[in-house]
Amino acid sequence: MPSIFTRIIRGEIPSHRVYEDPAVVAFLDIAPLSRGHVLVVPVEEREQLHELSAESAAALGRALPIVARAVLAATGANAYNILQNNGALAHQAVPHVHFHIIPKYEAGLGLGIEWSATAIDAPAAAELAARIRERIGE
Ligand code: AMP
Repeated sequence: MPSIFTRIIRGEIPSHRVYEDPAVVAFLDIAPLSRGHVLVVPVEEREQLHELSAESAAALGRALPIVARAVLAATGANAYNILQNNGALAHQAVPHVHFHIIPKYEAGLGLGIEWSATAIDAPAAAELAARIRERIGE
């Protein structure tokens, strides 16, 4: 079953498209958190970011600043959040990778963030960083 975003990319479901290149499509979010809330989606259908090919990831990296510049220019916003959820536990509702660009016009509107920071434990952090380094490239 193609994802809803694949169906949008194919033109089977209507959307307000704002950008496309061979590997990336962007369109307005149907339930925007703020005016100009856009989704930037790889044509390659993968559920989570780490599953993407290097080509799709690079194309997203190129497209995101291009689309963000256009959103800022068109809306007049000069602050914004990029949000990218992976997994239902992390609030992912649509299982096809996507980046949200969410303009922030004033405090209290747009994306709300609850940031429950904790203190780092230096020895545990050193061990964890070493473990992650060992797994880079897998
Ligand atoms: P997430 O929770 O990160 O998976 O976000 C999914 C986003 O997709 C939500 O912000 C929805 O409003 C948006 N969405 C779902 N269906 C559509 C659609 N047909 N067109 C545009 N945006 C959609």
